[in-house]
Amino acid sequence: MNTIKQNFYQIQSKIRHAEIACQRDKGSVQLLAVSKTKPASDIAELYRLGQRHFGENYLQEALEKQRQLGAFNISWHFIGPIQSNKTKSIAEHFSWVHSVDRLKIAKRLSEQRPHFLPPLNICLQVNISDEDSKSGVSLAGLPKLVADVNALPNIRLRGVMAIPAPQTDYELQREPYRKLYQAIADLKLSELDTFSFGMTGDLKAAIAEGATMVRIGTALFGQRDYSSKQ
Ligand SMILES: *Cc1c(COP(=O)(O)O)cnc(C)c1O
Repeated sequence: MNTIKQNFYQIQSKIRHAEIACQRDKGSVQLLAVSKTKPASDIAELYRLGQRHFGENYLQEALEKQRQLGAFNISWHFIGPIQSNKTKSIAEHFSWVHSVDRLKIAKRLSEQRPHFLPPLNICLQVNISDEDSKSGVSLAGLPKLVADVNALPNIRLRGVMAIPAPQTDYELQREPYRKLYQAIADLKLSELDTFSFGMTGDLKAAIAEGATMVRIGTALFGQRDYSSKQ
C-alpha cells in the first residue's frame, strides 16, 4: 500500500477509536484533509479513496489546485489568515471559511458571495490560549461577533475554530477546547453545529472535547516543505 492510502486508513481508524473512547456517536467527527503545500496529485489520490473535504491556507496556491482539479466534486475550505483584498476570491471559490475573526471580513464575504451559490459556511476563529497569536477573536469579544455575523445574509455561521498553543501533554491539550466548548454552551448558541478543533498533534484531545471537524495535514500527507514559499 502506498503512504497516503495507509495514512488515510490510519487516521480514519484513529478518529473512530477516539469517537468510541469518548462516547461520541460514530461518524460525528468529520475529517478535513489539509493539503497546503501539497500537489494536486496528492488531493486526487485521497479523493479517489473517498475524501471530499479539503482545507487550504494560501489563496493563490489553492486556486491553482482548484483549476487542476476542476472536474472533482470537492468541498474546499479556506483555513488560513484572511486579508481584506482576498475576500472576493475566497467568497467565490470556497464552500467553507474557518478563519473569520472580525466583522469586516465577514461583511465582505457576505457581500461578495455570488448569489448563484449557497450561503458560505463560516466558522469564527477564537483565540483561546495563544496570547502571542494575532489571529482569533477573544472569548470576551465572541458574543458580539456571533450576533453581528448572524445578521449577515449570504453567509451561514456554523461554529468556531481554534488553534491552541501547541502542548504535548494530553490534559493540557484538552483545556482550551473544553473552555471554548463550554463558552459556546453558556451562550446557548444551539444553532452552531461545527467545532473545528484538532490537528495532527492533538486529534484525540480535540475529539474528547467536542470536535466535529478535525483538520489533518501532516498525518495524511507527510511533513510539509515550505522552502518554495517566501
Ligand atoms: C496546517 C494547518 C493544519 C494541519 O496541521 P497538521 O499539524 O499538519 O495536521 C490545521 N489547521 C490549520 C489552520 C492549519 O494551518
